[in-house]
Amino acid sequence: MNRPRLSVVVPCYNEEGCLETLHARVSAAARDAVGEDFEVVLVNDGSKDDSWSVMQRLSAADPRLVAINLSRNHGHQLALTAGLDLCSGEEILIIDADLQDPPELLAEMRRTMAEQQADVVYAVRRKREGETIFKKITAAFFYRMLDKITDTPIPLDTGDFRLMTRRALDAFLSLPEQARFIRGMVAWVGFRQVPFAYDRAERHAGETKYPLGKMIRFALDAVTGFSTAPLRFASHVGLVLTAASALLVLYIVGGWIMGRNAAGWTSTMLVVVVLGAVQMFVLGMIGEYLGRLYVEAKRRPLYLVADIAGPVQGRASLGY
Ligand code: UDP
Ligand code: MG
Repeated sequence: MNRPRLSVVVPCYNEEGCLETLHARVSAAARDAVGEDFEVVLVNDGSKDDSWSVMQRLSAADPRLVAINLSRNHGHQLALTAGLDLCSGEEILIIDADLQDPPELLAEMRRTMAEQQADVVYAVRRKREGETIFKKITAAFFYRMLDKITDTPIPLDTGDFRLMTRRALDAFLSLPEQARFIRGMVAWVGFRQVPFAYDRAERHAGETKYPLGKMIRFALDAVTGFSTAPLRFASHVGLVLTAASALLVLYIVGGWIMGRNAAGWTSTMLVVVVLGAVQMFVLGMIGEYLGRLYVEAKRRPLYLVADIAGPVQGRASLGY
């Protein structure tokens, strides 16, 4: 296969306002880095706006642009997977469509990769511009919590913005799971991975495509995909409660024998409420894992491609 030196892979959902600038800035940065030997892979993740027609127009005028149209919105991580599957470069740059991650950093990231002989250069956010306090706090909390409970060390404050070698990407692509937390999966494959600090810019246009619901889902995929701590927590709580209730039974039976059991409404209610809450929580955690097991067991394709504009040399399977 005739591989370009570099592939830039971009998942896009309702990004019509960003695509042209994105295309221009990414192409310029890539040209600076590797001359003409690159491709840009844009994945349209079932956008409701005119993203796809903009992509088609751009791709008609640029033989280096591959535009992939998924059959519907599959979500950020699966759209990115589609792009990574179908790209064919020797080095791969993952970047968001909204230009929060400056493409101009490519040159420096390549230098870091060469100097440190790394397989993955992941970009760590020093600052986050133009994002809500809520987003910053939840993100900071999320990455620190994840670090505490996961078995795989996943770098703090790191998104999907990163440069990878083909061998690291191929290793990543061999992981078949459905609930995909890509930055964790890349950390899992290992090889030599080095950080690269940068300041995250504001969105070029449009709103965040990560409302609270998607953020929670994303966080749950990360936790359940990389840690069994919640399951262990459930069994620890269960153990403590069993011990406590054994004491309680002794106390109740003792009171009954000594004939001093009055109607203890408060304590009864406390026990019922506390136990009820803990049981619901534990059941919920088990449900999270069970739900994911069920999804994995179905072994559905990760995504479906509807159309492709431009040349594709990557895997011909298109996700089937
Ligand atoms: N995205 C996507 N599918 C989705 C949601 C988001 O492909 O269902 C893309 C989006 O177009 C962007 C990237 O994922 O390129 C990150 O999304 P966003 O910038 O909205 O997230 P934030 O930076 O606010 O966390
Ligand atoms: Mg963004």
